[in-house]
Amino acid sequence: MSLNKTLFDRDLAHLWHPCTQMKDHEWLPVVPIKSGKGVWLEDFEGKRYLDAISSWWVNLFGHSNPYINSKIKAQLDSLEHVILAGFTHEPIIELSERLAQITPPGLEKCFYADNGSSAIEAALKMSYHYWRNKGQTNKTKFITLGNSYHGETLGALAIGDVALYKETYAPLLMQTITVPSPDCYEREPGSSCKEHSEKMFAHMRDALEQHAGETCAVFVEPLVQCAGNMRMYDPVYLELLRKACDEFNVHLIADEIAVGFGRTGSMFACEQASISPDIMCLSKGITGGYLPLSVAVTTDEIYQAFYDDYTNLNAFLHSHSYTGNALACSAALATFELFDNNDIINSNKKLSKKLYESVATLEDHAHVAEIRQTGMILAIEMIKNKATREVYPWQERRGLKVYQHGLANGVLLRPLGNVTYFMPPYVITEEEIELMAKVAIDGIQLATQDS
Ligand SMILES: *Cc1c(COP(=O)(O)O)cnc(C)c1O
Repeated sequence: MSLNKTLFDRDLAHLWHPCTQMKDHEWLPVVPIKSGKGVWLEDFEGKRYLDAISSWWVNLFGHSNPYINSKIKAQLDSLEHVILAGFTHEPIIELSERLAQITPPGLEKCFYADNGSSAIEAALKMSYHYWRNKGQTNKTKFITLGNSYHGETLGALAIGDVALYKETYAPLLMQTITVPSPDCYEREPGSSCKEHSEKMFAHMRDALEQHAGETCAVFVEPLVQCAGNMRMYDPVYLELLRKACDEFNVHLIADEIAVGFGRTGSMFACEQASISPDIMCLSKGITGGYLPLSVAVTTDEIYQAFYDDYTNLNAFLHSHSYTGNALACSAALATFELFDNNDIINSNKKLSKKLYESVATLEDHAHVAEIRQTGMILAIEMIKNKATREVYPWQERRGLKVYQHGLANGVLLRPLGNVTYFMPPYVITEEEIELMAKVAIDGIQLATQDS
């Protein structure tokens, strides 16, 4: 038996994989990976896969990046981890200084956790608790966008709106106020993305007018709703939202867990609207895809609402065991240095242009509704009927066919429903983009040819 197969069988005996119907693996192999280098993953039989989705959007500078490796190894020999309550360490102090420096103006205080959902939970509690400490006990609700995704823990799931992940658990979730998304895919023919996003803001304004008194915060994924099929909207929406949140006395919480660290073409997506949120949640790319780490970065204004004599019981008594892990912080610092030393935001401009050029021929494809792009995220939406916008029934699992074609041809694509997307590490070369695009184009052709 092949080594891949042996590992696959051992895996299935005891593993329950994330976001997976395990029965699919009766016919769809789990791919055991032996090693990674740059954009490439290699299995136990020497077959290579180009990681077009940065291993779930976390990897920025390639697998086994020599610089990040060296920094983690050095950290490992001095301190792996220490409790962060009452204690601290150099990597986390430096990381906090850097975060205060590079995040939009006014974000000064870093509260750490160890995954994206946990940063969202911290932000939820922090915002609610802020208003409570300010005597505003009526504020208990959150406003969130249609088609949004903020993670899988119960609080994060409650403020998200992807039915596939959420519906089953509805009885367990707090009620939220959901406002239609500014998603430009839904724009009227002839209308620009900006016009559409601007127009859709009316719904947000209505919700704020109606609910501001009971609302702690508005949560948004700036510019790209990634898990919501990579739907995109115009920065004007964020500008309007910032003004309205100020006007109505509601926090603006930016979930940049997926879009932060250069993904949308700027270091943070909020920069494209020149706004500062009251809390910004970061994770995924923060360690270059190496180790779990997340942070809710907030203002001194929010921090000060908790700063009090202990006996007044206003402190934020929230924690996780692995908060501020020193190895993860050293990976994050190495990642930031790679940004600084290689002018990444600028060099990505060339790569994102290449991303589009490599698939531009699909614009005329009968079953491609749209190619959309924001910076280093490019998405191709398959459709049954372009003219009527009739979608493929989800049961047909067209995206899965693209996935299988990708695996057979050495590219890890992982479509979301009918949407194939590229979100590659920033170390991808133009030749590798061409290869990735060719496999995606052929995969989309194959997945749509019988319709
Ligand atoms: C991935 C993601 C999360 C959740 O992060 P996890 O680390 O998977 O818990 C939250 N928000 C957005 C926008 C994400 O893409």
